[in-house]
Amino acid sequence: MKLLVILLLAFCAITHGCPTILSKSAWGGKAAKCSSNRLPRPVKFVIIHHTAGEFCSSQSTCSAQARIAQKHHMDNQGWCDIGYNFLVGEDGQVYEGRGWANVGVHAPPYNSISIRISFIGTFTNRAPSASALNAAQSLIRCGVSGGYISSSYIVKGHRNVGSTECPGAKLYAIIKKWSNFKA
Ligand SMILES: [Zn+2]
Repeated sequence: MKLLVILLLAFCAITHGCPTILSKSAWGGKAAKCSSNRLPRPVKFVIIHHTAGEFCSSQSTCSAQARIAQKHHMDNQGWCDIGYNFLVGEDGQVYEGRGWANVGVHAPPYNSISIRISFIGTFTNRAPSASALNAAQSLIRCGVSGGYISSSYIVKGHRNVGSTECPGAKLYAIIKKWSNFKA
């Protein structure tokens, strides 16, 4: 019992209290067709998106939506991988895209100075579930404690850096209230 507690504490210390992050292979994602540039550490900006697709609330449906987003980015946008660094599902889980280390795709000049997190679904008329919002904030805290995101980071919506309605009016209204938000 004592050993179990020690192991558990050690595990928590290693993971910096990070949420569970499902690897690309766990959600059935394709391997990148290129090696993208490495993100410098720590990045100053966190950019919030929505996938503008279907909602999901289980690992199987969120995995399917992540695969659809990747297919769209690779086949229609012509990118060599899913553009997002991470996706967040309304099942409360985080799905790995390009991860902490690789540069994602947005509007320049933010590509190489930000982590891109996308909520799976369309949040124009509906807010994401509390579990999705908690997962995103936990992921950001994890990034700060892991040295990937600056402790003085700034959160922006995709619409603040490009001409798009992304991440949807309802989700945008929520992130605007986050303490690190700056339009
Ligand atoms: Zn976006």
